[in-house]
Amino acid sequence: MNKPLSINTPRLHQHIQALAQIGKLGETGVCRLALSKEDREGVDLVRSWMEEAGMTTRIDAFANLIGVWKGRNPELPVLMLGSHVDSQPYGGRFDGAIGVLGAIEAVQTMAEQGIVPERDVEVVAFCDEEGCRFNKGLFGVRGMTGKLEPDELERTDKNGVTRRQALLEFGVDPAEQAGYAFQAGRVGTFLELHIEQGPVLEAMDLPIGIVSGISGPLWLTVEMTGFAGHAGSVPMGMRRDALVGAAKIIVALNELASREPGAPTVGTVGSLQVFPDSRNIIPEKVAFTVDLRDIDLSRRQVLEQELFAALERVADEHGLAYTVREDTNSEPRYCADWIKRTMREEAEGMGIAPPPELMSGPFHDSLAMSYVCDYGMIFVRCLAGISHNPKEFSSPEDIALGTELLYRTARRIALQE
Ligand SMILES: [Zn+2]
Repeated sequence: MNKPLSINTPRLHQHIQALAQIGKLGETGVCRLALSKEDREGVDLVRSWMEEAGMTTRIDAFANLIGVWKGRNPELPVLMLGSHVDSQPYGGRFDGAIGVLGAIEAVQTMAEQGIVPERDVEVVAFCDEEGCRFNKGLFGVRGMTGKLEPDELERTDKNGVTRRQALLEFGVDPAEQAGYAFQAGRVGTFLELHIEQGPVLEAMDLPIGIVSGISGPLWLTVEMTGFAGHAGSVPMGMRRDALVGAAKIIVALNELASREPGAPTVGTVGSLQVFPDSRNIIPEKVAFTVDLRDIDLSRRQVLEQELFAALERVADEHGLAYTVREDTNSEPRYCADWIKRTMREEAEGMGIAPPPELMSGPFHDSLAMSYVCDYGMIFVRCLAGISHNPKEFSSPEDIALGTELLYRTARRIALQE
């Protein structure tokens, strides 16, 4: 039996709906590109709710909105909660937004209960998580944690506007970034509530999940080369068909990633280029991408080795040469065991079915935070796994349960001495 919630559910949903009006796209969509006029309007509205909840607010030089709820002991490492409020150009109402608005709700609930936290609690709406405008995501959180690359302010959007210019238009002076350094150890814990953006919770018929970690992708570009010839005259036994070789590798990747039932491993070939791409020429060259993800790095590495063995075998069988370029090789970043345990205990206190542990395939602001502190994430079920789409939907009840678990977990950590 679910117990009554402590959070103010109507207020939370009123906030979600009000924010969704800014940059509204059709009936249910949202377009709030990072550092746009709409983004600023959204940030200002969210800021007013932070202040209503009793936080002092500021916007830093990376355009992160930060609300601070003062604790008894400013020496203790900060508990940080948050996510982002920027969206994709054809985005939904919940991606990012529930993590920020849920965090404000958690703090406001604690404040209204007369709780005084031991440590400072900060709620952050990170700037430009999505990365679609300047083609590089997690800007704000990487800025705050001191991980920006040297030329990032010179990146341009499709209209030629630099990020530097966009920050100025947003009302932030990027010159203030000079000399900034993240203070190691200042933040002890980061918690993020987010929609799942996948179909697993829905398939399990469960409202919320506890994230085990964010799986880093392995990205490869494979090029296989054979020999072109007339599709009408070269006998099958004499062909060196690069596309047949690529097809066998695509099937092999699919089988490798599906081999262990119940494992969260995923493997995808999403892009294919065929040369000379003509119906009556045997394909001479094929380039394709590989995306392989797993929360278990050693399992992913075994699969990677087997994929390379398959490449060797198929190339040999079809007389092909091949090259493999590694574009990205990110390691999985695990949520802290003590945070997952705290979440499990608090979920039990809520009287709900034990939330399952899920891997996150997509990255989130948490990914950057994972390099500076312990982190934990709560996933909320979403309809058919749809996200980055106006059809994105999570029910008010599920969001409320996720927010309640965020609140309870934050309360435990806020009160630790
Ligand atoms: Zn997001």
